[in-house]
Amino acid sequence: MRSVIVHGTGQVSVDTVPDPTLPGPDGAVVAVTATAICGSDLHFYDGDLPFYPVALGHEVVGRVVEVGPDVRRVRVGDRVMVASVAGCGECRGCLAGDPVTCVKGGQVFGSGTGLGGGQSELLGVPAADFQLHVLPEDPAELSDEAALLLTDNLGTGWAGAQRADIPPGGTVVVLGLGAVGLCAVRSALALGAGRVLAVDPVGGRVERAVASGATAVEGPTVEAVLEATGGLGADAVIDAVATDGSMTDAFGAVRAGGTISVVGIHDLEPFPLPLLMGVYRSVTLRMTTAPVHRTWRDLVPLVRHGRLDATGIFTHTFDLDDAADAYAAVAARSAEVLKVRLTPGA
Ligand SMILES: [Zn+2]
Ligand SMILES: [Zn+2]
Repeated sequence: MRSVIVHGTGQVSVDTVPDPTLPGPDGAVVAVTATAICGSDLHFYDGDLPFYPVALGHEVVGRVVEVGPDVRRVRVGDRVMVASVAGCGECRGCLAGDPVTCVKGGQVFGSGTGLGGGQSELLGVPAADFQLHVLPEDPAELSDEAALLLTDNLGTGWAGAQRADIPPGGTVVVLGLGAVGLCAVRSALALGAGRVLAVDPVGGRVERAVASGATAVEGPTVEAVLEATGGLGADAVIDAVATDGSMTDAFGAVRAGGTISVVGIHDLEPFPLPLLMGVYRSVTLRMTTAPVHRTWRDLVPLVRHGRLDATGIFTHTFDLDDAADAYAAVAARSAEVLKVRLTPGA
């Protein structure tokens, strides 16, 4: 089959690799019909996580083509989405819908940890009854694009907002307005934020957030947030970037007693955490990748019934064979290219 492989910084090719085999009796093989490039894929592409070669991709919608003898709920032919984070499906963390806390270690597809990459024609999925969500047959009820967002970015934005302890009517800052940040803006408003202050150095990205109901923040972030909040700081800061700069801004922009909720992926270097500033100001700091399965319980009905908008985030579609061009477009981090779908085609 064809699979997107990163061989080094900026080096993407679509290689022919062996088809995945059934990953155990509880597993399934999914034929990928649509997949997406995530901001976290860029960490491999940009060289922040230099583990090569790596088959990338963890956002997948497809059809089940094979199931193991122990699979009960999912059938061959089902239209499914694959949770980007995988767990055993049986431990306490998984049963709570949070495979990030799986006792056997939560893993992300396409990150070089042993699970295959989803930017491929086929994907082997362990613990299929846990890992797959069967979609309505009619895409009008839940589109491929909405489902791709539900595999990661929307769940990440939602979890980031939930874990920010947003008081009703409260002020939330969202740092970084890529696909996850935009999902965080919409989630924060859906969860009762009175005002969302949106921050991104790329001008057009702020405008997208404003179109989703946010207020643009211009100039130095901390000063602008303090000015907008009467000098107090924001009730919550959602960091969808996770660089030293954004983390430092988060500590400066949060009010005493407020919460910083990190859903960006930091690089391998340590962050100089200003603990004294945190402890004297009673700041709560949380960080996670998405507890995808748990977010589906909230998000699938909210999206299906139009209570949470999942449209307007995908901006481009490329054929899987053109993955190198697609990665170059995403890596430019422009206002025009926000989220890219890859389709394996025939
Ligand atoms: Zn992702
Ligand atoms: Zn588990």
